[in-house]
Amino acid sequence: MSEVQQLLQIVETYGAELDALSMEVWKNPELAFKEVAACQLQCEFLKKHGFEVTENYCGFETAYRCEYGSGTPAFAITSEYDALPGIGHGCGHNLICGAALGAFIALTDYMKRNNIPGKVVLIGTPAEESGSSKVKIVDSGALDGVDAAMMVHPSWRTTLDTGCLSIKRFDVVFKGKASHASGSPHLGINALDAVQLLFAGINAWRQQLPESSRIHGIVTEGGLKPNITPDRAGCCFYVRSATQEWQDKMNDRFLDIVKGAALMTGAEYEVKPFNAGTKARKPAALMNQVWMEKIGELGSPVDLSFGAGRGSSDFGNVSQAVPAIHPYIGISENHTEIAGHSAAMCEASGKPYAFSQMHKASAAMAAVGLKVLTDAGYREQLKADFSK
Ligand SMILES: [Zn+2]
Ligand SMILES: [Zn+2]
Repeated sequence: MSEVQQLLQIVETYGAELDALSMEVWKNPELAFKEVAACQLQCEFLKKHGFEVTENYCGFETAYRCEYGSGTPAFAITSEYDALPGIGHGCGHNLICGAALGAFIALTDYMKRNNIPGKVVLIGTPAEESGSSKVKIVDSGALDGVDAAMMVHPSWRTTLDTGCLSIKRFDVVFKGKASHASGSPHLGINALDAVQLLFAGINAWRQQLPESSRIHGIVTEGGLKPNITPDRAGCCFYVRSATQEWQDKMNDRFLDIVKGAALMTGAEYEVKPFNAGTKARKPAALMNQVWMEKIGELGSPVDLSFGAGRGSSDFGNVSQAVPAIHPYIGISENHTEIAGHSAAMCEASGKPYAFSQMHKASAAMAAVGLKVLTDAGYREQLKADFSK
């Protein structure tokens, strides 16, 4: 029996427990930083199987850290478990935590049986959808001494980590002056005009941006009544890029366009960056290769017909700190496309087929970990590629 098949066999011995945990998380969707029950279930599972768990990790009530072994080499797995407002587990994070626990327990079990030295770290990272806890977790040195890191995300099809964009969110408020819009328009300053000019400026800017850049916004405040010149209007924008160089340029330019809109209308403005943003994901090609090989061996071949990823995730910060991948496991039973962040994705994430795919994801992730821990040449190559 091949290594990954042996790993799958170990995962299956915990299969019923992993499925029950994932189902429980699915049934009780908790939003960013409120994943109390989901976090507790994972910590209890680990303690039950003899591991020590650091709870309230990095100052987050719903983060945890668990380690097996010591020293080097070291492999890290990250878990996610937050849900989305309105559509529950429409991003399938109930499967991410199940896959992470499965990979951790299978890999450590295999290491014990075969006397393999090294360390495996499992980090429970809350609030991927909104809040990006991995930024602080990575900055705090959580990955110091780690050779490589990984997580697996559900999708409609199994594929590689094709990267993702960096992102920064801006909340903008323009302040004008209210007046009767018809009776005394000359006494007003129209804050909504500033919002409209900001959108117009951004739409003109788009054609000068690299293909991989993205910028999209919504109006959050637009006045109270048509006969009152809006004295306050607001909008929220996401600015994204494939490179940090362009992200920095875009952040600066965005602020210039805000200033321009304010100047054109006479409104004042306030810009609040939501948080530090997250970095672009840089997939380790050699890890993608092993993932592809191992998941394929388990009968879930990788679909290579997709271009570069255009979403964003705080796992980007992980991948900029150490060699890492965030590939996808297919959970669409008839292989038809299911949109991310949808009710259909939520439904698929609670089905037996998704759980069986989760087991395969665990085994293949454990196999990537095993390669990192047991092949010094591979580690060297990973390191060399990463520093390029
Ligand atoms: Zn999501
Ligand atoms: Zn997600």
